[in-house]
Amino acid sequence: MKRKNNVLGARKEDILADLPVVKNEEYIADVIGIGHDGEGVGRVNGFTLFIPGALPGEKVRVKALKLKKQYGYAKLLQVLEASPDRVDAPCPIYKQCGGCQLQHLSYGAQLRWKRQLVVDSLERIGKLQVASGDAGDAGDGSNEGRQGIVVHSTLGMSDPWRYRNKAQVPIGLAMEGGLVGGFYAQGSHRIIDMEACLIQHENNDAVVTAVKRIARELGIRPYDEESSKGLLRHVIARYGFNTGEIMVVLVTNGKEIARADELVGLIREAIPGVRSICQNVNRERTNVIFGDTTKVLWGSDVIYDTIGDVRFAISARSFYQVNPVQTEVLYRKALDFAGLSGEETVIDAYCGIGTISLFLAQRAGQVYGVEIVPEAIEDARRNALLNGVNNVQFEVGGAEVVIPAWKRQGIAPDVIVVDPPRKGCDAALLETILEMRPARVVYVSCNASTLARDLRVLEDGGYRTVEVQPVDMFPHTVHVESVALLVRNITH
Ligand code: SAH
Repeated sequence: MKRKNNVLGARKEDILADLPVVKNEEYIADVIGIGHDGEGVGRVNGFTLFIPGALPGEKVRVKALKLKKQYGYAKLLQVLEASPDRVDAPCPIYKQCGGCQLQHLSYGAQLRWKRQLVVDSLERIGKLQVASGDAGDAGDGSNEGRQGIVVHSTLGMSDPWRYRNKAQVPIGLAMEGGLVGGFYAQGSHRIIDMEACLIQHENNDAVVTAVKRIARELGIRPYDEESSKGLLRHVIARYGFNTGEIMVVLVTNGKEIARADELVGLIREAIPGVRSICQNVNRERTNVIFGDTTKVLWGSDVIYDTIGDVRFAISARSFYQVNPVQTEVLYRKALDFAGLSGEETVIDAYCGIGTISLFLAQRAGQVYGVEIVPEAIEDARRNALLNGVNNVQFEVGGAEVVIPAWKRQGIAPDVIVVDPPRKGCDAALLETILEMRPARVVYVSCNASTLARDLRVLEDGGYRTVEVQPVDMFPHTVHVESVALLVRNITH
């Protein structure tokens, strides 16, 4: 018989028997922090319990659920002493949906928490010294004489609702039959119908609602995951905030849509601003939304949007930042930190569709962008042409492979900008940055832990982190975005 042993040879049940908390029992917990998924981190008899819905500073009554050796999970039964930062979540489906994690925390407190998460990561993971106090959001790069890294207040939105420019809504068969579209009930694949999402632009809600109504009227069958029968799998709505252009994409389990002309006519009638109606075919049994083929049912294959002065073409499958208002704030900050005069050579690593590259190109001599997804580089080149930008060159490949090759070709950047995915920069890339010795490194990060880890490597290699600016790209969620400025030490 296979037994789960710990180092001392004790059985799992014995370990749990020794815990100061017993499964299914009720306790009073003191909440001391917020965990990675927005859950309260509580303490009971010195033991850590993760409590969804609880906030730091609160005293709560909970029921212990799943227990492990070092920590456990508990259900919030009652808030005995509420945090002054607790608010009523405005969304009626907040608890069922799981798309937002922080709606029960006031927006000001969310912004403070996001800054603190960056500070804690820099100190604990990066072993970096952070200047004391909240440095405000001056962000002029001048922290001469200060001890440690200046971490500014999180730049938040004046209206932190309805900020998303893209909705991707799964469609399914209701238990009682009929078509529903909305979100997956937490921890399941059951689709709950939804008419309004408070972080989604109103236009996207209206588009999805209209398409669902039309699909019902035309008798289009919803896709059923169980049997993989039925046609309509997902409705995607994209909205150009600065142009008003709308794209609708129908993801179907099959090439043919019966009465497609009628469908297009009804969508055009219901959605006056629509510029593009596309169909993407996905016949795989998969959670991946898009299949390989996309065709235009009506209108253009792209819609346009602008960030600052830069214009972007967005196709059905293009990556494009989902919060355009804060994207501009983030990129302006990155541009600021790059400190360009018009002459510099700049590398944009992990460049996606070239958004940051095109921003930088306006003030640089030459920009080189590298990205691993070939389609994104196609978009980047198209966007450069669209904007008449000719001082930027894009290459497909791993940043950790292409940038060393550029080094061998004699490219010597004054500034390197990196914007890696959650896992952070590849070690080989960090090494190349240290060898290339740019005067500045601007690090855009969506994960404070890997940011801190990578800053440590750059600091050890001769750079100093001057300041970090958190920017709230995803209000009411636990995602924390920030941009850091590093300069090369004069002595190195
Ligand atoms: N800077 C862009 C995209 C950032 S997202 C923007 O602001 O829009 C991170 C990007 O890194 C993704 O496009 C992903 O495809 C790309 N990527 C992931 N691993 C990579 C690697 N090893 N080398 C280059 N790009 C990579």
